[in-house]
Amino acid sequence: MERGPVSSRLVVISNRVASPKAASGGNQGGLAVALLAALRENGGVWFGWSGETIDTFTGEMDRVEEGGVTTATIDLEPQDIDEYYNGFANRTLWPLFHDRIDLTEFERDYEGGYVRVNRRFADTVHPLIGEDDLVWVHDYHLIPLGRELRRRGVENRMGFFLHIPWPQSRILLSLPHHEELVRSLFEYDVVGFHTQDWLDAFREYVVRQLGAEIEADCVIRLDGHAIRAIVAPIGIDAGEFEEAAAGTRARFARDRMHMTLTGRQLLVGVDRLDYSKGLPERFLSYERFLVRNPDLQGLVSFLQIAPPSREKVDTYQEIRAQLDSLSGRINGEYSDIDWVPVRYVNRGYQREELAGIYRAARVALVTPLRDGMNLVAKEYVAAQDPDDPGVLVLSMFAGAAAQLTDAVIVNPFSADEVADGIAEALAMPREERIRRWRALIENVRREDVFWWRDLFLNALQKADVREPA
Ligand code: ADP
Repeated sequence: MERGPVSSRLVVISNRVASPKAASGGNQGGLAVALLAALRENGGVWFGWSGETIDTFTGEMDRVEEGGVTTATIDLEPQDIDEYYNGFANRTLWPLFHDRIDLTEFERDYEGGYVRVNRRFADTVHPLIGEDDLVWVHDYHLIPLGRELRRRGVENRMGFFLHIPWPQSRILLSLPHHEELVRSLFEYDVVGFHTQDWLDAFREYVVRQLGAEIEADCVIRLDGHAIRAIVAPIGIDAGEFEEAAAGTRARFARDRMHMTLTGRQLLVGVDRLDYSKGLPERFLSYERFLVRNPDLQGLVSFLQIAPPSREKVDTYQEIRAQLDSLSGRINGEYSDIDWVPVRYVNRGYQREELAGIYRAARVALVTPLRDGMNLVAKEYVAAQDPDDPGVLVLSMFAGAAAQLTDAVIVNPFSADEVADGIAEALAMPREERIRRWRALIENVRREDVFWWRDLFLNALQKADVREPA
């Protein structure tokens, strides 16, 4: 695949928009950094929801221009947020696509709100799209946006990237109107997934369920529309993260950690508080490890950082209550006057501080039950001291496991396996830690977020422009 940035102007559309100001301040994720860099180089627009509500939708945009990049946002009605964001996106698609059919809510109103907001997005962003612009739509909130834009006469090259897993067909079949939703993806020119597994599941569905035809390696045709379906695993801004980990703020955070550890080995987990991350299972696996290794009790400390997210959705309140109770129980049962086995923290940290915490940890526990990619795994690798790196214990069900094959790979559903993984990581000799880390960092550096962006945009640039309908 060709490398290097493309030359066309870009229109990026996602549920939320990253602010150019925050990105230059250095406290934004890799995705924002990479996309803003491309927008700055080529000029362009980033469009999305402001995060604010308005009583009656007006379609009025808040536009901010900085360094050739326009961020344009709209406010949505409270009903839109309930039905589109907290409803169809996060109560229906998110759990379903993460294999949690038991937590999935199927409500016609949610679906209606989802379509309505996608139309609102299309109506407002449409005038911002110039003739030769590349349009790049992100994630499960906006699957039908491409179709809505085509209906409004947009003929540009349009790509869609899914940041979460693609589910097995038998799961997707439980979604009312699943065919219509998946068919709308054929209005894009390029559709991207993090892993071959997600792409295979998509291909299987469209061939068996919709009768699509595989034309060439990654070209799929349905009803006269051909899309390129590609694997493009997202990375991090590895250079920036390595620098952050070596900086003053990171060192300060690391020293703070070390002071409280008094020689104990630190295990760390950093996740949004989400049921897909396998947090209760992780706590129980750690408990299993303590039970099986009584000699190590008092010699390790497990820090779980889990900032709350999507708090309006009941399942997120339930997972929080479950973790409050589990951490309390484990600490009550195993603590001593001078040792607490679990430190459970519900707040966010600056990236530099996080980098320092990662570096202080001998082991990272990244054990989601299902995860599109998982960037924490890559950040942990990037933050390590090359002379004395820690060990990544990684779920086989994270997209990252396809690339980070030198991690200690575990099945997060098995407390025994994860407990074994923890023990193996803690006992791992320095030479083996260095050998594994070198293989991991090589991947994290090579397949970084800029590589990912260029991979996708080059595929999009090469797509044929659609004939006017
Ligand atoms: P997801 O996108 O599902 O939340 P990822 O692991 O791919 O999962 O990305 C999570 C991002 O959020 C990472 O960049 C991570 O550093 C950041 N993050 C997670 N927890 C915290 C926290 N407590 N403070 C600051 N950043 C966090």
